[in-house]
Amino acid sequence: MFETLKQQPADKILALIQMYRDDPRADKVDLGVGVYKDATGLTPVMRAVKSAEHKLWETQDSKVYTGLAGDPAFGDAMADLVLGDAVPRENVAAAATPGGTGAVRQAFELIQMARPAARVFVSDPTWPNHLSMLAYLGIEMVPYRYFDEETRGVDFDGLIADLKTAKKGDVVLLHGCCHNPTGANLNSAEWDAVIEVLLSTGATPMIDIAYQGFGEGLEQDAAATRKVAAAVPECIIAASCSKNFGIYRERTGLLMVTSVDGGARALNQGTLAYLNRQNFSFPPDHGARLVTMILTDDALRADWQAELEDVRLSMLGLRKQLAQELQDLSGSDRFGFLAQHRGMFSRLGTTPDMVEKLRLEHGIYMVGDSRMNIAGLNAQTVPILAKAIIGAGI
Ligand code: PMP
Repeated sequence: MFETLKQQPADKILALIQMYRDDPRADKVDLGVGVYKDATGLTPVMRAVKSAEHKLWETQDSKVYTGLAGDPAFGDAMADLVLGDAVPRENVAAAATPGGTGAVRQAFELIQMARPAARVFVSDPTWPNHLSMLAYLGIEMVPYRYFDEETRGVDFDGLIADLKTAKKGDVVLLHGCCHNPTGANLNSAEWDAVIEVLLSTGATPMIDIAYQGFGEGLEQDAAATRKVAAAVPECIIAASCSKNFGIYRERTGLLMVTSVDGGARALNQGTLAYLNRQNFSFPPDHGARLVTMILTDDALRADWQAELEDVRLSMLGLRKQLAQELQDLSGSDRFGFLAQHRGMFSRLGTTPDMVEKLRLEHGIYMVGDSRMNIAGLNAQTVPILAKAIIGAGI
């Protein structure tokens, strides 16, 4: 029966990882895959995660199933981390999911269940998995202008004009912070304008927040999500713990749906549990339990926050160093945007041919759209990258 299957397109980033592994050059630089790396190129287990795992090993006496929506304590801890007091907890439905990807996927299914004709507005560009999951589910997507290739900032006027065409029953997918793949983000006043458009069109926001703590800080990175969720009657939020807790393979995420009253919340909560049941029954618990332990223990939380802040500052330092090196070499400030961008990624803004040239001639690996993982750099490789960029005539 399986002869009817068609070859699926290979994941470009995974193909890039393989090419990098196969490259014998000792001075190659991997700016491809989206994981944090420290100055030695390692993706460490965070100290608080190790401590929580140790404690869990000592105290956990059963691995019996949790609830369909996961342990409610995880939902509470994460709702608090992401939403603060922007929305009363009794109005937030929440379900644990396998990673942020699982939360996004369950959100799309929820949208389809509620409104089969809903269109989902997506930033151009966005995380490619958004597009492939929407296409897989047969949900109509509408790209909205986001990245200005000239300034490498947000095309704010284009964005607002495009979002104004959304209607009630449509969904607008927004990145809560640290936009992937561009690194360009809205400022606070621009978020206010987006909220105004959401209120005037009646479209429902969906916020994907996968890098809280990687941009301006834990609280600042959640500010936009909180502001949107507080302003609109219903908001969908997909949160990932993969990056900020460094627990990528544990598959830890949370889907939240806010509403204006407890009755709507109960309906949403039941539907989220139902969706989990259809797809995988109980969500993974190990990562969620570690996150809950860390967020509810003062000492563990303080240690986690301190380490996360070090991670954030190291990426910021690399951004500043790279922008400075490029300024020195080019004698212009046209790369200043690298220091303005936030999060793990920046889009350099060059052609796939140039990206290929950097790979072939210099062993520098970035995604074809010129997305660079800033955390793939260190103080020694920044000058190498800067020279290669200027040498290539970018
Ligand atoms: N959303 C965005 C925008 C992302 O970049 C990622 C991570 N690549 C995710 C969601 C989900 O990540 P994960 O499933 O690993 O938690």
